[in-house]
Amino acid sequence: MDISLEELEFGHFHLVLNLLSKCTDDYLFIFDLELDEYSVSENAVSRFRLEDCQFRNATDRLKEVCHPDDYARLVDNIQGIQDGIVTEHDLEYRWLSKDGSPVWINCHGQLVRGKDQSVRYIVGRITELGRKNIMDNVTGLYREVKLCSDLTKIQKFDEEMDYLLLIGIDNFREINEKHGKSFGDQVLLAVCECIQDCVGEAGLVYRMSGDEMLVLMKRKEIGQIDPAREMFQRVRRKLDANISDSGYQHFLTISGGSAYYSEEMDNILKLIEQAEFSLHQAKVNGKNTYVKYDVGQHEIFLARLDMQERLRKAVEDDFHGFELFYQPIIHVEKRKILGAEALLRWRDDVLGMVSPAVFIPLLEDSGLIIPVGRWIIKTAMRQCLEWQKQDEEFRININLSFIQIRKSNLIKDIDDCMRELNFSSKNVLFEITESGELEEGGTTEGILQNFQRRNLNLAIDDFGTGYSNLRYIKEMMFDLVKIDQAFIRNIKDNQYDYLVVKQFTELAHSLNLKVCYEGVETYDVLQCVLELEPDYIQGYYFAKPVSVWEFESKFLCKFIRL
Ligand code: C2E
Ligand code: MG
Ligand code: MG
Repeated sequence: MDISLEELEFGHFHLVLNLLSKCTDDYLFIFDLELDEYSVSENAVSRFRLEDCQFRNATDRLKEVCHPDDYARLVDNIQGIQDGIVTEHDLEYRWLSKDGSPVWINCHGQLVRGKDQSVRYIVGRITELGRKNIMDNVTGLYREVKLCSDLTKIQKFDEEMDYLLLIGIDNFREINEKHGKSFGDQVLLAVCECIQDCVGEAGLVYRMSGDEMLVLMKRKEIGQIDPAREMFQRVRRKLDANISDSGYQHFLTISGGSAYYSEEMDNILKLIEQAEFSLHQAKVNGKNTYVKYDVGQHEIFLARLDMQERLRKAVEDDFHGFELFYQPIIHVEKRKILGAEALLRWRDDVLGMVSPAVFIPLLEDSGLIIPVGRWIIKTAMRQCLEWQKQDEEFRININLSFIQIRKSNLIKDIDDCMRELNFSSKNVLFEITESGELEEGGTTEGILQNFQRRNLNLAIDDFGTGYSNLRYIKEMMFDLVKIDQAFIRNIKDNQYDYLVVKQFTELAHSLNLKVCYEGVETYDVLQCVLELEPDYIQGYYFAKPVSVWEFESKFLCKFIRL
C-alpha cells in the first residue's frame, strides 16, 4: 500500500483508532516501526495487560502483553518486515488479559511504506479468536459472547434493562438421542421463534450453550411484580398453541430461570450466573416450571457444593474427621445391652460438627458414600471384635445406604472385610432404610437374596414412614423391623400410633420377625411400649449415640433395669 500517512502525527492516531473501534468488536492498532511507537484503541487497554494506549520503545514494551512463549515469534516477524524479508503481518498468538490469562488473538496488519519504500507503519486489527463466532448457525441468534459484551456496554442498568430470562428445553438430550440431531435442531428453532415472537422489539434473544436461550429484556414492563414469569408463561402458551396447531405428536416442555439487576451487584456478568442457577433450580424442581432468582437458595446451594468438596477432601485425607459413634440396643427379655448401632459422625476443621441429616445425603449424591461405607463396615467390625473380647455375643448394627446397594459391589466388600478380619456373620446386622429409591432399578431383590444366602442379618430401618412395602415383610427378606421413632414418640397419648405399633408387632412376631422400637426417650414411653413386647429397644432414655471411649466405660457388658 502506498498511502502516505506522514502528515498524520503520532498524537492523532489514537483519536482515529478509538473512533473506528466503536464500529467493531476488534482492537485497532498502528505500529510506527521507524520511531518504534505503538498506538492501540482504548478497548484493548481495558482488556489486556497494557498500561497505555500509546507508548514508545514498543518492541520492548510489547513483551509485557505478549505471552512469553510467543514473544520471539512476534519480534522475528517485525524484524523480518523491517529487513524486507517478510511481506505480511498476519499472526496468531497469545496476549495476556488483565488478569494474566492468555487470550488467543489474530493480529492482521497492512504494511505502509514511506517514500524510500521501507515499511514505516503496520496498521491493522487484533481479533480475539474465541470471539469470532458471534452468531449461531442453527437459530440465527446471537451467541453468549455477544450477550457478555452487550451486558458490559449497558451503562445505566436501572433504566436500560429489566431482567434476564433463561429458557431451557426439557429433556433435550433425549429428544436428540431419540429422534436425531436434525429433529433436535427443528425443535430448537421452533422454540426460538416462539421466544422471539413473544419478546418482539422489547428485548434481545441469545442462544446459550446446548438447549438454552436467554432473553435480555430491555424495555420495562411497568406494574408487574415478576415480568419474567409472565414472559415465560407467554412463551409457554405460544409453544403449546404452536404444537397443537401443527398436529405435532411430541410432548415438549420448557423451564425458565430469571435474574433481576440489583444495585449491590459488583460484576454484571453475575446476572448470567444467577439466571443459570434459577434455571437449574427449575429443572431440579421437576422441570416444566419457572424459578425467580433467590439469593438465599443460591447460598444454600453453594454451601452444599462447598461442603461436598470438604467431604471429598476428608475422604482423600484418610477419612479425616469421620468417626463412628455407638448407640446401645437393649435386648428386652435379657434386660441386657445386646450390642450397638454404629452411627457416622463428621467434624470438619472449619464447619465443626455437621449433622448426619445434612452430610449423609451429600455423601450419597456424590457417590462418596461408597468409599465411606467401606470404611464404616471395616471400622465397625474391628470395634465389634474388640468388644467381643468382653462380651462374646456383642452385635454391631451397620447402616447401609441404597447407593451402596445399587452402585457398588457391596456383598463382595462385606465378604472381603469379614474374611480379612475373621469376623462372624452372626455378630453383625445391616440396616437398610426403606425407600422408593431402593426399589428403582430392580436389582435390589437379588442383592437382598444374596444377604440371605450368606446368612447376613438384615433389618428394615425407619419402618412406617417411608415407602412401607409389605412385600418385604411378606417375602421375609428381613430378620428385624425397626419401627420408626415417629410412631413411638407420642405412643402414650396417641391411640392410633399405639394400635398400629401393637398390631404390627403381633403381625411381625407371627411371621417370625424380630421387632425393635426406636426413639424411646422417656420412662413413661418405655413403660407403655413394654406392654407391646418388642424384642429390642433403642432410645435416648437409655443413651444417645456416644464415642468408643464412652461406650466402653458406660455400656459394655451392662445389664439394664426396665
Ligand atoms: P437411623 O439409622 O434411623 O439412626 C437412628 C437415628 O435416631 C440416629 O440419628 C440416632 O441418634 C437417633 N436417635 C436414636 N434414639 C433417639 C431418640 O430417642 N430420640 C431421638 N430424637 N433420636 C434418636 P443420627 O445419628 O443423627 O442419624 C440419622 C440417620 O443418618 C440415621 O438414621 C441413618 O439413616 C443415617 N446414618 C447415620 N449413620 C450412618 C451410617 O453409618 N451409614 C449410613 N448409610 N447412614 C447413616
Ligand atoms: Mg439405623
Ligand atoms: Mg432408624
